[in-house]
Amino acid sequence: MMPGTLYSIEVQPKIPQALQRLEELANNLIYSWDRQIRGMFFRLDRELWERTGHNPKLFLRRIDQRKLEEAADDPAYMQDFAKVISTYDSYLKAKSGKVVRKLINSQSDLISYSCAEFGLHESVPIYSGGLGILAGDHCKAASDMGLPFAAVGMLYRQGYFTQQIDSHGNQQAQYKPSLFNDLPVQPALDEHGGSVQVSIQVPGRSIELKVWVARVGHNNLYLLDSDLAANREEDRRITYQLYGGDSTNRLLQEMVLGIGGVRAKRALGLAPTVWHINEGHAAFQVLERCRELVSQGMSFAAALEAVAANTVFTTHTPVPAGHDIFDHRLIEFYFSEYVGELGISMEHFLSLGSSPVNSHGFNMTALALRGSRFHNGVSRIHGQVASEMERYIWPQIEPEENPIRHVTNGVHVPTFLANEWVNMFDLQFGGGWRTELLNPEFWRKTWDIPYHSFWSVRQSLKAKMLEAVYDRSVEQQRRNGISESQIRRLTKYVKPRKTDILTIGFARRFATYKRATLIFSDRARLSRLLNDPERPVVLIFAGKAHPSDHPGQEFIRQIHIFAHDPEFEGRIVLLEDYDMALARKLVTGVDVWLNNPAYPLEASGTSGQKAGINGVLNLSVLDGWWDEGYNGQNGWAITPHGPQFSPDFRDREEANELMDVLESEVVPLYYERDGHGFSVEWIEKSKNAMESLIPAFNAQRMVMDYVRDFYSPAIRHGQLLHADEYQVSKALAEWKHRVRESWPHVRAERLDLPADSIFRDDTFKVKVVVDLAGLSASDVTVDCLVGTLDREGAFDRHSCFQLSHEEAEHDGKTVYSLSVTLAESGKQCYKLRVYPYHPSLGQRFETGAMIWL
Ligand SMILES: *Cc1c(COP(=O)(O)O)cnc(C)c1O
Repeated sequence: MMPGTLYSIEVQPKIPQALQRLEELANNLIYSWDRQIRGMFFRLDRELWERTGHNPKLFLRRIDQRKLEEAADDPAYMQDFAKVISTYDSYLKAKSGKVVRKLINSQSDLISYSCAEFGLHESVPIYSGGLGILAGDHCKAASDMGLPFAAVGMLYRQGYFTQQIDSHGNQQAQYKPSLFNDLPVQPALDEHGGSVQVSIQVPGRSIELKVWVARVGHNNLYLLDSDLAANREEDRRITYQLYGGDSTNRLLQEMVLGIGGVRAKRALGLAPTVWHINEGHAAFQVLERCRELVSQGMSFAAALEAVAANTVFTTHTPVPAGHDIFDHRLIEFYFSEYVGELGISMEHFLSLGSSPVNSHGFNMTALALRGSRFHNGVSRIHGQVASEMERYIWPQIEPEENPIRHVTNGVHVPTFLANEWVNMFDLQFGGGWRTELLNPEFWRKTWDIPYHSFWSVRQSLKAKMLEAVYDRSVEQQRRNGISESQIRRLTKYVKPRKTDILTIGFARRFATYKRATLIFSDRARLSRLLNDPERPVVLIFAGKAHPSDHPGQEFIRQIHIFAHDPEFEGRIVLLEDYDMALARKLVTGVDVWLNNPAYPLEASGTSGQKAGINGVLNLSVLDGWWDEGYNGQNGWAITPHGPQFSPDFRDREEANELMDVLESEVVPLYYERDGHGFSVEWIEKSKNAMESLIPAFNAQRMVMDYVRDFYSPAIRHGQLLHADEYQVSKALAEWKHRVRESWPHVRAERLDLPADSIFRDDTFKVKVVVDLAGLSASDVTVDCLVGTLDREGAFDRHSCFQLSHEEAEHDGKTVYSLSVTLAESGKQCYKLRVYPYHPSLGQRFETGAMIWL
């Protein structure tokens, strides 16, 4: 070692005038989905692009001055640059489409979107997995569609960890601090140009939060940061790690996101007309918005009606254990002062987060549901699971009628569609395909792509994927001190030339329900499958396990052991540090994307959608999105067994079926070459996947569903409840109070004698008498549901008639009656029910009260 201190200084290049706008491009996350923009960077220096982790801002600071000057003098580069800038400018100028304009007023409306993580690009490490990437895709599609949209999240100093897998298969998690100067974020400025700082109060202190802003196309993503000198050491750490720290830290994070998020919007002068809470972490925003109204003199109950009216909540977790639940003692301490500002008792406060899961816990999902009128799960199955799981919020309502609906997730096509396909679509369909993402008809055109062209795109994507896998794998093994000869064996089937080996990918978080090791259930059978000399198969795995998820890390160890077993060497590859860059390579490059979660725990899943839009064939348990996506032709399905079966049994059954499908369908089909260099039927399946999945599972379809079924109704409902100084909110809160008081005393019974049979065209009559216990006749609705019994003896409802209130009373009680002619003949059944109803309700059954006769 040389004596003395080694000082370092970074000498930044001066960007030539002609290339000045590169800086602007580096500061808009549009680069995460616009490959032409990224090209303007990596063309300057490929190697530096890799070294800087695909981070344009860092890249611009490190690039050699000469390379910039050469580019400025290169007519070809400058011509492309001009084209990129002009496309970028017109993207930013574009207005929303007709359908959106009818539903959302881009002048007066604003959609607020809050989430604990955002996965936009590998250069911004503030995501851990599917939830974050979904949130990123939502922002991107909102920009593409010209929605007025402002997102809120947190700027984590250390983000999520980077993962190394050591030579024993142990996951080593490393948290690397980000320098915010290197990220495409700026301090957010208020109307007067001052930087925005907000604070939240906890007993004994105030926590200061800096607000940063990232540009995502047209829109802003605001990110909160507590790492400020003004804060105590422990408060600086609140926003260090995504899902990091103990439960106190998690609670503080969620206070930052929920309460700080609202305050940030106010400080920025933003007035959202709809507030979307994406997963429970941000649910405290409901309370903060209530506090604002209470401070203006409203009652808490009326404030909650006003706030819930334009709040949308999306739940993503299909198991109670997956929800954030804070111990009551923590809540009592941290909200001891805040509760006073809400004008309610602590007991009342705690009841907002009560759930049957944990009687001493404050459940963030429960708070979000009570504080919103529009709720959804993220696939059809998940919507049903969530309705069932959260039925306690509407205790007297059957789960199928409670207001939880679903919007199935989708992926952002420009981000996840490989560039090779973009070029092929441009060539085959013309540039107009970009505006056809909601049009299933259009995608029949995938059949126009010649088979050999289609295959050559698939093969070239596979070669690129294999190259990346090979490079990463070699680097990983060398670091672990593996010998060169062993490295050669471990990587011998993942060479860019080996595009003729069937390659199966499995990459996602190693959460236990995803059952990463299911395919290893029958070792001998797997060995025969992978080592078939004529028709070999390679498996590629990647993924991180949360540092406190020990069973998840055990999966990694097991895969590692298999991968290093002489019997499987080279046939099983386990890659470390799964991130968006690796995901893009794998989902576009493998032949088959495998997913085998334990039904019904895959809320949606999105990586299979990314694979499918690129013509990669899914082989998956029919859970989450695949239950809707699978059409018999576009991939393969594994039949799920519900939790009514023992875990051992279902694992065995599903592992068996997985191997059956692989042996008898996937492998033979892939290797069927009949005179071509490829399998015609494989390509047909693959075309079918693109045709069916692109229009159905893209993020624009998803955001359009939200706009039509949630944002627009929430905006209108908010307007109704907020008009005239919140008149309707106040009236509704009073009405609900009255209903709550009276409902336990309301009684209903049938007054007429039910007839056994009637003749066709005779009227069918029912009379019900209700003791309203002080409510008025118009406060309740009485329904007659008519239907038949299905084979299992369950009531199958065909129609619903509302009984009318009769003037005449019966014993001082209110009478409702119905006379209708039933259209169908044969044996029919009917049921009668009474429930509170008010025309200003957001959802018919939101009071959760109902009596069946
Ligand atoms: C898409 C994606 C996910 C989500 O994958 P699932 O299969 O839905 O769990 C997770 N991580 C990364 C990096 C992704 O790109």
